[in-house]
Amino acid sequence: AVRVRMAPSPTGSPHVGLVRTALYNWAFARHHGGTFVFRIEDTDAARNTDESYDALIELMRWLGLDWDEGPEVGGPHAPYRQSERGDLYADALDRLRASSYTYECYCTNEEVDARRKASGSKVMGYDGFCRELTSEQVAAFQGEGRKPIVRFRMPDGTITWDDLVRGEISFETQFVPDYALCRANGEPLYTLVNPVDDALMGITHVLRGEDLLSSTPRQLALYDALIALGITDSTPRFGHLPYVMGEGNKKLSKRDPQAHALAYRDGGFLPEGLLNYLALLGWAIAPDRDVFSMAEMVEKFDIGDVNPNPARFDLKKAEAINAAHMRLLSVEEITHRALPFLKRDGVVGDPVHDADAQLLELAMPLVAERINKLTEASDMLGFLFVDDDAFAVDPADAEKLLDDQGLEVVKASYDALADLHPWSTDAIQTALQQALVEGLGLKPRTAFGPVRVAVTGRRVSPPLFESMELLGRDRSLGRLQRALG
Ligand code: GLU
Repeated sequence: AVRVRMAPSPTGSPHVGLVRTALYNWAFARHHGGTFVFRIEDTDAARNTDESYDALIELMRWLGLDWDEGPEVGGPHAPYRQSERGDLYADALDRLRASSYTYECYCTNEEVDARRKASGSKVMGYDGFCRELTSEQVAAFQGEGRKPIVRFRMPDGTITWDDLVRGEISFETQFVPDYALCRANGEPLYTLVNPVDDALMGITHVLRGEDLLSSTPRQLALYDALIALGITDSTPRFGHLPYVMGEGNKKLSKRDPQAHALAYRDGGFLPEGLLNYLALLGWAIAPDRDVFSMAEMVEKFDIGDVNPNPARFDLKKAEAINAAHMRLLSVEEITHRALPFLKRDGVVGDPVHDADAQLLELAMPLVAERINKLTEASDMLGFLFVDDDAFAVDPADAEKLLDDQGLEVVKASYDALADLHPWSTDAIQTALQQALVEGLGLKPRTAFGPVRVAVTGRRVSPPLFESMELLGRDRSLGRLQRALG
């Protein structure tokens, strides 16, 4: 049975590349009816934070990427935080040491660097100096008070695997130096804990970013040792997912503001919109289609179809995909999902007053088809809910549209509407059309701009006549008057 995992380290704010990796693992697990494991790689105490851990959990929950085993839900291989699994790593390390898959290394980094310079070697990393120390050498190092680290002894030869994304990959192990498994204080390193956990947790497929490709030959060699020791009985298959590139064709980095996954939630993206967009960074459901649901992705996802070439992150495209998902939602659903933003932005109170709830029900149908992100509901509807004292016109829009000519339009509109009965969308439209198009001879396309800015405060708003009906006679006339000064 398929068992995959996502294994983030809780440092900093979670990245969109991490979401793409999580999504592919999740879709792969769901497609095969397998198990999706969520493991927290928090052995590096100096770099991990609780905020980052909380953000990871929150993010996964918001996205709806449910995990079968992991933090908060538990499972047969608990605990799923590496910081709580120290005994397991100590035990694995003891067994590796007892069977001489490893050796103690007393070198300092400075010594290794100096030897490399002196020899002119191009191979980075450790040179194997401590591989065959005599007992005199060991005694001498210990006499100096040196504490050793433990290194894995890379075997000679070629390591080859059939990458699920990239096909056959080979490394000559002469270019893969012996690597550290733990620090001098015994603290285990990523190089040990990641494969040991994949082994203990029975992970069958490791789908992860291309940046980890160079650690795969080391892990495969370690796997052979774990199999020989009876710690596991098989090696997972590996698939390395393409890089995500940002501006200027550089790898999207954690420092890039577009990289922060939770910023999309706070910016009004739908989780299904963000996931759909991120799915496209390396995969396509069909040549001519880019909007799909997660259920469709699960049905169609095949790791063999993932494109190994770097994918470019494109915010405009992400927004367009999100907008397409907005169009798929009912007005009620959009209202429901926009409500937290309307509260956050102070458009409605929390809890929502009855009068506001009624107004919202009438107003949302006017904007549901026009907003591309949930946050735009606040921008579009704020003018209906704001107290008249606090109502303000966007200064840039005012400068453009409420010039002398614009104010003339506002004045003519006020006069045409002052005694209008009934106060209905149709009546408002007819009256304004008469006054502005026939009366002032303006083009219908541009005639209403100044009225829109005066009444809604912005050049982009819900449909004007409907908005004015909802706003009511007194408030609409009051705003026209206010624009006139
Ligand atoms: N903790 C590792 C990382 O965040 C996971 C590596 C892996 O997926 O194997 O890079």
